[in-house]
Amino acid sequence: MAIERTLSIIKPDATKRNLTGKINAKFEDAGLRIVAQKRIHLTKAQAGVFYAVHKERPFFDELTTFMASEPVVVQVLEGEDAISKNREVMGATNPADAAPGTVRAEFAESVGENSVHGSDAPETAAVEIAYFFSGLELVG
Ligand code: GDP
Repeated sequence: MAIERTLSIIKPDATKRNLTGKINAKFEDAGLRIVAQKRIHLTKAQAGVFYAVHKERPFFDELTTFMASEPVVVQVLEGEDAISKNREVMGATNPADAAPGTVRAEFAESVGENSVHGSDAPETAAVEIAYFFSGLELVG
């Protein structure tokens, strides 16, 4: 297994409920290291660029409004097999389907307000990390 980096976002429903630390404890307990991190308040346009792949979906407007509604924490997680490990710790998109103990099972409020984002492949991880961080900000 290779050492990978993946983009993680702690979404507005979670920052609003002061869950950043509890969520990051799960990532760190799984062996993922936070090698870059910042708290930002996205505009709806910036959220739209990030989620451009979903722009034809019926929930796009709801999703981008939600992502711009409160601050988010954007971060880069590093570790062995980090992309799939992160998604395993996150749990399924819909919290009703998420395995017990996962972030979404414990904290997500709905399929839309589901507490965390994680890149789904090496190519998307590279693009998503570069959207928020310069190379100098990644401190492994
Ligand atoms: P993820 O990779 O598990 O985050 O899931 P997707 O890439 O399929 O969807 C991206 C994000 O869009 C999800 O995390 C949700 O926040 C949102 N989303 C997906 N499906 C729905 C839906 O049916 N309704 C709403 N409101 N939001 C959704």
